[in-house]
Amino acid sequence: MIQELQLRLLPEEAVNEQSLKRVAARETGAPVKDVNAVRVLKRSVDARQRTIYVNVRLRIFINEQPEEPEYPSITYPDVSGGKPVVVVGAGPGGLFAALRLIELGLRPIIIERGKNVRERKKDIALISREHLVNSESNYSFGEGGAGAYSDGKLYTRSKKRGSVEKILQVFCQFGASTAILADAHPHIGTDKLPRVIENIREQIIRSGGEVHFETRMDALIIRNNEVVGVETNTGKSFYGPVILATGHSARDVYRYLYRQQIPVEAKGIAVGVRLEHPQALIDQIQYHRREGRGEYLPAAEYSFVTQATGRGVYSFCMCPGGFVVPAASGPKQVVVNGMSPSNRGSRWANSGMVVEIRPEDFAALTKEEKLQLDGEEIKADSPLALMAFQERLEELCWLNGGMKQTAPAQRMADFIQKKNSFDLPESSYTPGLLASPLHFWIPEFVTGRLREGFRHFGKVSKGFLTNEALMIGVETRTSAPVRILRDKESFQHVTLKGLFPCGEGAGYAGGIVSAAIDGERCAEGVIQRGHGQIGQTSGIF
Ligand SMILES: Cc1cc2nc3c(=O)[nH]c(=O)nc-3n(C[C@H](O)[C@H](O)[C@H](O)COP(=O)(O)OP(=O)(O)OC[C@H]3O[C@@H](n4cnc5c(N)ncnc54)[C@H](O)[C@@H]3O)c2cc1C
Repeated sequence: MIQELQLRLLPEEAVNEQSLKRVAARETGAPVKDVNAVRVLKRSVDARQRTIYVNVRLRIFINEQPEEPEYPSITYPDVSGGKPVVVVGAGPGGLFAALRLIELGLRPIIIERGKNVRERKKDIALISREHLVNSESNYSFGEGGAGAYSDGKLYTRSKKRGSVEKILQVFCQFGASTAILADAHPHIGTDKLPRVIENIREQIIRSGGEVHFETRMDALIIRNNEVVGVETNTGKSFYGPVILATGHSARDVYRYLYRQQIPVEAKGIAVGVRLEHPQALIDQIQYHRREGRGEYLPAAEYSFVTQATGRGVYSFCMCPGGFVVPAASGPKQVVVNGMSPSNRGSRWANSGMVVEIRPEDFAALTKEEKLQLDGEEIKADSPLALMAFQERLEELCWLNGGMKQTAPAQRMADFIQKKNSFDLPESSYTPGLLASPLHFWIPEFVTGRLREGFRHFGKVSKGFLTNEALMIGVETRTSAPVRILRDKESFQHVTLKGLFPCGEGAGYAGGIVSAAIDGERCAEGVIQRGHGQIGQTSGIF
């Protein structure tokens, strides 16, 4: 017999398969020995009340064997004779575009400026150890994209349930735990992601696709208003329609498009700081108990949002049990972000705390100085205006952090009172911190709203606004400052045929899952635009 049950359990009852088998036996009246397996279909923690529950939907197999695998898996055909499609960037957008192209019978040729995911790890270590940022291989650039050394949180605001499920299933097919199919807030963890990414690459190559590392697209090849390929820094050119999935940190790509007068527009962003609390404090606050999370509950999360003087202030990319990381992708920048391992076991909880910025805010943000981009004064109506603002803020952060990857930081309550912090608490940020009055050099447009937001969050969540928490500057890379304009139906660029702007860098995604979904859509766009008719090998579509 196979039975499905929706249950509200105590954390210790939901902790592992053994305890769930005992629950299944209790609820169905079957002897424990007859419960062959229990599959968790959905799981979420309900910490709204003093007693904390875990809501689960279970599929129980009594005297039955569970079906394998737990999800439909995809057979990727051999596309070595298929028509080539150039995919620029091996982040989630580019990798999922490549997998979908293979499903559709086309042959992806991925070019990626950074190194493979293992080699990249060494460059990332050098940022912390030696304060050296390799501008081609860092937290943003390299195989796996910005998502590779992250928390691997896989939740998204996307309403496309079917598409989200498919992306999660593909992650499982390539080695992620099937827990991500059940958890309300699934995540893979920075320790597990590289293997999953390597498995995806191996599949792409096995199917006849190509992956070229340390190969940067420097120009598009355009003939008769159609993109037919790319030129690269290696001197080699690659031909085919182009899916451009270069992420929001490839500012050279934005500059190139702008210089070539290829239509792009300014897009709103959000900037602020990383806020780091002791995880034990967040556990106490969120689980409403002095003893914290205890043995059976996960590291607690939080999510805050409010309005402050007409702009949103919110927490972003919260990493329970995580680390604050140096995410600069070039010289003279300090940028921070967050990640966590699969067990979310560090002593710290961090999140971006950011203020919404709209393109029309440029003048208010920069009123005390005229910003320059590549030696020219940037005007408020330039599509690159907010990118120039991001760059300047990152440079200011570098200057205030001692011109290394040391990050300027301030205690949270000191910031509210506009006071310097004379000592800083211990932090997970390994390059080191320098006490700095963030309220003084980050524009008041941002700090004023952060103060308002923090006061509100401190009221709704007692204990959150505290000098035990540390603000680390600056968080600027929350989304793309530019949108590369494309047609809504075909995903093709508005003026250039054969160009498919994709993922976060193009301004159509924000996060791993939404970038992956967008990658799939762009691959389908390539087919819809008739690029898939020659040399198809699979006939699946
Ligand atoms: C530290 C960190 C933690 C994060 N944590 C999470 C999280 O937990 N959950 C989540 O959903 N999101 C997270 N994000 C955001 C997420 O990683 C991005 O939203 C996502 O990776 C965007 O995917 P993408 O494919 O569009 O672009 P990217 O991942 O940015 O990939 C772009 C790729 O293009 C390559 N590239 C750029 N220019 C060129 C060029 N000219 N030629 C060739 N290649 C080029 C880059 O090297 C890069 O590999 C995190 C980001 C960071 C930095």
